[in-house]
Amino acid sequence: MRLISVAVPVPRLDALTYNVPHRFPDLPPVGARVRVPVGTRTLVGCVIGHDPTAGPDTETRDVKEVLDHEPFLPAAIVELCKWVAEYYMAGIGDAIGVALPPTSRRVSGYKTRRIVAATPHLGSDPGSRGLTPQQREALGMLAAAPAGLPASVLRDRGVGADVLRRLAVRGLVAMRAERDERDPFGRAALADVVRDTDRALTGEQDAALATLSRLAETGTFQVALLHGVTGSGKTEVYLRLAEQVCRLGRQVLLLVPEIALTPSVAALLRSAFGERVAIQHSALSGGERHDQWQRIRRGDVDVVVGTRSAVFAPLARTGLIIVDEEQDSSYKQDETPRYHGRDVAIVRARAEGALVVLGSATPSLESYQNAAAGKYTRVTLERRVLDRSLAGVRLVNMREEYAEQGPEVIVSRALVAAIRDRLSRREQVVVLLNRRGYSTAVFCRQCGDTFECPNCSVSLTVHRASGLSRGAPPLGRARHDAERVEESRRWKARCHYCNYSNDVPRACRKCAAPYLEQAGVGTAKVEQHLIELFPEARVRRVDRDSVRRRGALTTVLSKFAAGEVDILVGTQMIAKGHDFPRVTLVGVISADIGLGLADFRAAERTFQLLTQVAGRAGRGERAGEAIVQTLYPEHYSIQVACRQDYATFFERELAYRRSMRYPPVVALINAVVRGRTFADAAGAAATLVRELDAPARDVPFIVLGPAPAPLGRLRGEHRVQFFLKGTRRAAMRCALRDALAAHPRLERRVTIDVDPLNVL
Ligand code: ADP
Ligand code: ZN
Repeated sequence: MRLISVAVPVPRLDALTYNVPHRFPDLPPVGARVRVPVGTRTLVGCVIGHDPTAGPDTETRDVKEVLDHEPFLPAAIVELCKWVAEYYMAGIGDAIGVALPPTSRRVSGYKTRRIVAATPHLGSDPGSRGLTPQQREALGMLAAAPAGLPASVLRDRGVGADVLRRLAVRGLVAMRAERDERDPFGRAALADVVRDTDRALTGEQDAALATLSRLAETGTFQVALLHGVTGSGKTEVYLRLAEQVCRLGRQVLLLVPEIALTPSVAALLRSAFGERVAIQHSALSGGERHDQWQRIRRGDVDVVVGTRSAVFAPLARTGLIIVDEEQDSSYKQDETPRYHGRDVAIVRARAEGALVVLGSATPSLESYQNAAAGKYTRVTLERRVLDRSLAGVRLVNMREEYAEQGPEVIVSRALVAAIRDRLSRREQVVVLLNRRGYSTAVFCRQCGDTFECPNCSVSLTVHRASGLSRGAPPLGRARHDAERVEESRRWKARCHYCNYSNDVPRACRKCAAPYLEQAGVGTAKVEQHLIELFPEARVRRVDRDSVRRRGALTTVLSKFAAGEVDILVGTQMIAKGHDFPRVTLVGVISADIGLGLADFRAAERTFQLLTQVAGRAGRGERAGEAIVQTLYPEHYSIQVACRQDYATFFERELAYRRSMRYPPVVALINAVVRGRTFADAAGAAATLVRELDAPARDVPFIVLGPAPAPLGRLRGEHRVQFFLKGTRRAAMRCALRDALAAHPRLERRVTIDVDPLNVL
């Protein structure tokens, strides 16, 4: 038998063994795609190994078709996926899935589009031949486009497929397939990003670049932490280092946290490397991603820029992987496989002998500790370029503000005055609130009942229905009844976890009292409040609700960059990376969101967010200021963020993690067990924990729980969780695997997260 091991797209499944019948003369190489039977279906899988050990009585099925004779996925990427599956306890098919371009399970290597053109022999007057008006109209359009038009364009202009088919049958039009490589830069690039190539580096940048180049030139695996304050010019260092690595004949991968940051960095790379750049992120259409992936695979590019999954880009000669804002939580995938892009980058670089540069103004505790321990080379940029000073941070104690101004205050007097001042000087303002929606809770003033999601244990957030951009909420006390009925239709209460949505109720469902109140401020309410406070200002909002439409984010950001917007309100999407020189004030509506969460990383996240957002101010010639509203001005993460004092933060936070035995001092694995009832979930979790606690085993870790997960119900299911905590991940994984193997019926109800970032 000629046996191969194949990863198939079935969740949680290990590799399957197949026989390659002799009608296929060559064994497909690792990375090739094959069509294989799985149960009653036929699926496209990926070869991950040869000669697997199949027991003598295993009935191996035959491969049905070999789709590639060359590796489709490079063998090195297959190896990386195997590591991901093992480390993060995911199925190999899940891991291979993230490395494949979106359409590769279909067979054709390229995406094509249909082009329709009028046939040449067509006379200039087809009118007399009994054509319908639509057919005549279509021919008119095609006469104006001698090279033909894509069928999709014709469809947009009202010409359907059936019209074209009838014309084709009569020989009046011809259709052809054309390889379709769209250019995602065309739309994504911010128009005014121009790189100033002749400017001199600052002394610090120069020294950092020299150290990093030396590491790159060794051609061996190295990790460097580039710790540079906001505005210190890290991007320029990345670009110069990338150029050097390319000159050495190797390729560069630049990972960025969010799509929001990609356009400007991508445009800078475009100006430095021209056509030899590819872009990979999830906001591209499937076709665009596929085209870009193929360009990388063919070796047409030197540089790839992208978000998390770009770490699997099929580059063959990777010499440098840059992870910008390495602390950013978007590098962690929150569905299976739950990998961390930064950590996968390091594993990849180790296998390929490349340099990793982790860049950040606020490194994660994990990375900073590795640097402090000498595992990573530390490179620092302590000053902003051109001697610009860091923004001064002023705290506003909101407890005092409420006492003096009443509990309804959203924007403090200090912040209002500062905004007015900036507007009068025609400078720009960024206002951050890390919570979207209008108001974040609805409750009854009579009985206190809150309006919760029927499927999840969270309160619903009130949003404006789409299309309604302005207006007050429906629950105002003085309003007329009919008016309230009418208005409440325009508002929706929505769950941010399962997307459940319903009309905002007009009366309490429990006690029927008509005294519903909204509480908790979201970005939409801040936006409206600012419009009312500053009617002359141009206010725009950026959060996941406002930028759902493709391109919407780029539009708002370029308007802001062009000075056509005065105040930008938004969630953490606007906190990072952006470089808007005319912003001289950043306001933070509530620094405390997150501090109350039962998560040991809450202080770290607050510190990072405040430092990042304060880093948006004063990046141009005029100095910047940040005003931070908080209920806990004495909290250490807020205090040290104000001073932008990373070292002190690190010492304090690490001491806390040591005393509590939290990462990075130990490793964690989180397991969430789902059930239809609480008892069901709790029982299943208890069974697994008993298995893990088996006294016979020599235990190098401890088990915490089971306990109800903080989000006790999600999408209608009850959730109970437990943790494994210890210093040897391999032993922890192994024990968990054994426990699951002993209860195979429970496996599909368990979600495992190795190195969890969010514990919900
Ligand atoms: P960071 O990513 O470290 O926050 P950026 O890379 O965004 O900082 O740089 C901040 C600003 O300084 C940008 O506008 C950039 O164009 C500018 N800049 C970078 N290096 C220099 C330099 N050597 N001289 C002048 N301006 C620079
Ligand atoms: Zn829900």
